[in-house]
Amino acid sequence: MIKTRFAPSPTGFLHVGGARTALFNWLFARHHGGQFVLRIEDTDQVRSTAESAAGILEDMLWLGLNWDEGPQVGGKKNGYFQSMRLAIYEEYLQQLLKEDRAYEAYESPQELAAMRKACEAAKRPFRYRRNMPGRSKAGAGPAVLRFEMPHEDITFQDEILGPITVKADEHDDIVIRKSDGFPTYHFAVVVDDHLMGITHVLRAQEHLMNTPKHLGLYKALGWTPPHHAHMPLVFNMDGTKMSKRDKTRAARQGLAAYASRQKDPDYRLLAERAAVPVEVIAAFVGKKNEDTQLAQKLAAAIGVELPEIDVQDFRRSGYMADALLNFIALVGWSPGEDREILTRDQLLQLFSLGGIGKTNGRFDRKKLAWMNGEYIRAASPDVLLQALNGFLAVSDYPLAGANEELKRDLLEMYKERTGTFGEMAHNAVFFFEEPQYDAKAVTKHVITPEAQSFLSQSLALLEPVHDWTLAGLESAMERVLSLGEKRGAAAQALRVALSGGPVSPPLLQTIVALGRDRTLSRIKANIRPT
Ligand code: GLU
Repeated sequence: MIKTRFAPSPTGFLHVGGARTALFNWLFARHHGGQFVLRIEDTDQVRSTAESAAGILEDMLWLGLNWDEGPQVGGKKNGYFQSMRLAIYEEYLQQLLKEDRAYEAYESPQELAAMRKACEAAKRPFRYRRNMPGRSKAGAGPAVLRFEMPHEDITFQDEILGPITVKADEHDDIVIRKSDGFPTYHFAVVVDDHLMGITHVLRAQEHLMNTPKHLGLYKALGWTPPHHAHMPLVFNMDGTKMSKRDKTRAARQGLAAYASRQKDPDYRLLAERAAVPVEVIAAFVGKKNEDTQLAQKLAAAIGVELPEIDVQDFRRSGYMADALLNFIALVGWSPGEDREILTRDQLLQLFSLGGIGKTNGRFDRKKLAWMNGEYIRAASPDVLLQALNGFLAVSDYPLAGANEELKRDLLEMYKERTGTFGEMAHNAVFFFEEPQYDAKAVTKHVITPEAQSFLSQSLALLEPVHDWTLAGLESAMERVLSLGEKRGAAAQALRVALSGGPVSPPLLQTIVALGRDRTLSRIKANIRPT
């Protein structure tokens, strides 16, 4: 039986690249009627956090990527967190020690850096080997355990890239147990993939050169290795790798523009407004750190939107899980035809490793927004309402306060013209709060003598209506639209008066949803005394 796994390190949120790795593993296992394992690789004690692990699980479930074994499912409690499996790793570490395939090494990080530097100066690559001259003697520092890589070429058949060979003289004796007693990623991944019965390891190409190391370990432990397939990375449209640095970069660009526009070169005003110490802003601008949460905070303070990178960013922007899943599936994989909208079932049916390309996939945000709009338009009212509520629970829009009936009406009104729930919720703020009037639109459509007369006449036509429903308002609205020489001219005055701008859903539906009081009071407020 085919068994795959997704093995994230809980050092941050689930990135779309990680989500794609999870998706391909899930699709491959499910396509073949196999099983999918979720394992949390938290052996880095400093960088791993429980919140990050919880966030990854939540995002996986939001995407509908369920696992057969892993946290909360199957097997032993905690058996899928590597930090809870130390005794298991120790057993195999001892085996390698006993067989003299592993040995203690004592160099400090500084010593290793110096050794690396010396090799660079001599234009030689640095390879740590057991038999190299100048190794530190026992007791010089806290010991790590290294694995003596076999002194032979290692070749394997990558299921996507074809044969890959690493020559004997390119191997390094990798650390397998750190000085804190924890196994390294390399060691834990091999032990777990073996013990969990993983048949296929599908992971990003950045791990390609780790695989020969892992194969060395499989051999030493006497185990048959799984199949390996390395997937192309996810790139932005401009050819840069999609990473969380895109956020800090965008924030810095926004800050530079803000500083000159607002004449706040030292960010003193911003520091006060955003309640962030000025030195912290200076350090961030000076690239002293890549703190994405700080980037987010500063960007919000200057009204700059940062690109979505993590699954939860897309969730907060109002993408539907199925649309994001469909889109991610096509980054680096193709079903072989020009088909783009593919349901989960179709993806499951069509998925194969053969459809994964060798070159980097491009993340086309415009296409994602288009695709999401298609999903919104195709969804049933119930599915749409449920997805909207999911979005409102993780975002902050006044639409969250609307009753279900109004949400349904607004979805109906906006679904033809929206790419994301975020866009819709933003455009629909005027239903709940006083509109932000667009000065240009007001000059053009509200304060002209003609528009003022339309507004007064509209008020006179609408005020007597008490049955504030589509049917009850239909004839009065028909008369409003017929005011003036050009049909619709009065509608534009009304639209700006009610919504603040020249674009809104159809007027009749808009005023029904707004309600009688708000509609009439906003018209009144826009009629200027002569
Ligand atoms: N924990 C590793 C990572 O998050 C997993 C790599 C692998 O799939 O082997 O990159």
